[in-house]
Amino acid sequence: MHRWLFTGAAVVLILLAVQAVRLGKDVQSRIEALSSAATDNLQWTLSQAEVDYLKYRLAAMQTNDADDLVRLRRQFDIYYSRIATFRESAFYSGIRDNKEGELSLERLHRGMKAQAGLIDASDETLLSSLDELREMVVADGNDVRDLALIGVALQAETAGDERVQLHDLFLNLAIVVITLTAALTLTALMILLLFRRGQKLAALQAREAARTEAMVTSSLDAILMADEAGRITAFNGAAEEIFDYSAQEAIGLPFEDLVPVKSEMFTDKQLPSELRETDGRIRMTARRKSGETLPVEVSLTMSRSNGNEVLVSYVRDISRRLRAEEDLRRARDDALAGEKAKDKLLTVMSHEMRTPLTGILGSLDILDDLTPSPEQRKFLQAMRVSGELLLHHVNDVLELSRLEAGAEPEAVAPFDLAELVASTCDSLQAAAAKNGNELSVFCSLGATDCVLGRSRYVQQVLLNLIGNALKFTRDGAVSVDVMRTSGEMIEFSVADTGQGIAADDLERIFDEFIMLDPSYKRGSEGTGLGLAISQRLVRTMGGEITCESEPGEGSLFTFAVPLPPSDLQQCPQRIGHEQSRSGQKLLIIEDNDINRLLLEKMLGDFGHDVTSMSGGEDGIKALRTETFDLVITDISMPDIDGMEVLRRAREEHLADDTNIVALTAHAAEDDHSRILNAGFAEVLTKPIDRDALAGTIARHGRGDLDATKAAPPVPAHSDDSDIEQFVNAIGPDKAKHFLVEFCSDVRKLSEQLEQSEELTERHRQEAHRLAGSAAVLGLLELRASMLQLEEANTNVVPELCGLRTAWRSADGMLRHYIGAGHQADV
Ligand code: ADP
Repeated sequence: MHRWLFTGAAVVLILLAVQAVRLGKDVQSRIEALSSAATDNLQWTLSQAEVDYLKYRLAAMQTNDADDLVRLRRQFDIYYSRIATFRESAFYSGIRDNKEGELSLERLHRGMKAQAGLIDASDETLLSSLDELREMVVADGNDVRDLALIGVALQAETAGDERVQLHDLFLNLAIVVITLTAALTLTALMILLLFRRGQKLAALQAREAARTEAMVTSSLDAILMADEAGRITAFNGAAEEIFDYSAQEAIGLPFEDLVPVKSEMFTDKQLPSELRETDGRIRMTARRKSGETLPVEVSLTMSRSNGNEVLVSYVRDISRRLRAEEDLRRARDDALAGEKAKDKLLTVMSHEMRTPLTGILGSLDILDDLTPSPEQRKFLQAMRVSGELLLHHVNDVLELSRLEAGAEPEAVAPFDLAELVASTCDSLQAAAAKNGNELSVFCSLGATDCVLGRSRYVQQVLLNLIGNALKFTRDGAVSVDVMRTSGEMIEFSVADTGQGIAADDLERIFDEFIMLDPSYKRGSEGTGLGLAISQRLVRTMGGEITCESEPGEGSLFTFAVPLPPSDLQQCPQRIGHEQSRSGQKLLIIEDNDINRLLLEKMLGDFGHDVTSMSGGEDGIKALRTETFDLVITDISMPDIDGMEVLRRAREEHLADDTNIVALTAHAAEDDHSRILNAGFAEVLTKPIDRDALAGTIARHGRGDLDATKAAPPVPAHSDDSDIEQFVNAIGPDKAKHFLVEFCSDVRKLSEQLEQSEELTERHRQEAHRLAGSAAVLGLLELRASMLQLEEANTNVVPELCGLRTAWRSADGMLRHYIGAGHQADV
């Protein structure tokens, strides 16, 4: 645009200048013409002609004698030639072109011809014709005068034309000059404007350049530029620090000496493909001046500068970031390891606490049947409460870790909701009475009590809410309402008249480990997990739990969950012990002696014919020789586990028509679904509940369920000590036999460990088995030593003095039951 403007302006200026020059030249030539005598000459010549005429006339008038004739003739010649010039010369054509002038010239010519006859005659003739001559001369006077006047008129006319022409010329010249001046002024203005703009642009560019310079020098990233030959052309301060070269040293070095890019990049003038694919950023190993390498992140771009390709690279030292990432990764791994350790601890806790609890609560059931004295019953009850509370806490913690791990929720199945609510409240009546509370239930479910849902979740939430209501209410009332509010939804509400909860606390009671009032005398009766678990369970069922409360007045907990009605036929019926007390042929496979003995005792009491085996291999052998109505097998066993027993039994068609039930201390739902998926009919969880056991046999066993065949339980003694309870439960002879075997097994293991340097898998399994037995016998120190062996981190036999000490104190207790005959040394 500017270019065209300038070209146009230049053309106009040149044209104007040419025109000015042309006009100037014209003026000059005119001036020259004017300055020449040409115009003056005409006038002068005409005046001169008049003068010549007057001189000639004077000479004619004054001629008297022959002497004067010379002068006369000379004057005539002058006069004659002047007039002849007028007639002939082109210069005087203007006069000739004038009519008057022509006539005057003609007349003069004729007169002069006549006068020339007289002048050229002899002196005497001339002297005699002087008068005639004088007359003729005088007659010429008017024509000469006319000629002079014509000359003046012509001169005036010519001068007028000249003036007009000159005027036009000057006007044109003035116009051209003014236009030229205007054009020059405009051009000057434009140049000024452009100059100003140029100045501004230059200032802007200078600022930009300064900023870029500042950015480059202060950049934390190293900035390196390389030319087409791959030689470094620019190297900033950060680059000096990262690479240890000064800019002076670095400039000119091959780029790839510092950053290992492929040299073809420079010849191809294209970034390598890996860089193009990664947005031009890539991790590389750069090289310092000392040869030391460092991890860097490089960003490369190709750009053009002065028509040449240049490589611009930004290099960031990422060694610190990588170190930080590594630290973070390690911290994360440590945290995950910690999490794993926590999970493992919880699993171990589950197993290790549930196994002895099986023993304790199972023994309590048996002792209850043995008609204890009122005082003994009181202690038994206290033990049961503590045991169940402990189990409750263990279950709480396990449930939470299970939920946190995002385990598969309990499967949806039909169940009798009215029965579940009633039995849950029944089980809490004693707790209600303890605090002087009245616990009432109102259940309105419409057409059917049977619903489709997760019975265990519903029961656990109810237990938590009613349990809390009873815990935080003294001498008041707790009412439980269960109502079908719509086709699918059932609303549960638990209201109490207890201490209530402050409005500020209402939001946080559903958080984990929240116990609002530690001063409240509840002893160890809470973990602060009940409501957190309840909320998660209710949400898993697709509902929401809410609480309204007024301090001092009481609280109302409500939750509504979808529990669609189900076919009554599909609801499992609740079965009591009596119903299962028929003589079925049962096989128990359990490696833990005490659990096995307790199962034998419970099932024997129910009136069943029990065969028990202490390992999977023996169990398979028994299945090969006999047919059973039901098989109950432990899952974790040292030789072959319960899963393998099931697999082989099915593979060898050993018990095709017989259900196999799994027994496990692992409470996790994941394990349960894994076990059920393997093909077990049901999973029984330790500690074994007599009701649950009876229900399992009724559901999965064979034979008639005639309660009349039930054998009454055999009364026996009971005592406070664990060992005594055990002895009383299974009888002194059997107990002695077992205890002797137990002592011998402990001794055998100790001897093996003394002689071996390596702690084998077999040692660990034996330690695991003995730890379980020691727990049931209350030999806690010995159990702890065995567990240490089982879980030792290395395969080297650990220091055994702990085991020896534990054994010495256990031996003191056992000696009493098996006599002094056994060897106590370990
Ligand atoms: P905890 O095992 O301590 O009972 P929860 O999670 O079940 O744990 O309850 C958390 C806290 O909420 C309790 O410690 C108690 O302070 C408060 N709370 C729960 N239910 C009630 C209730 N019905 N009345 C008064 N306070 C309650």
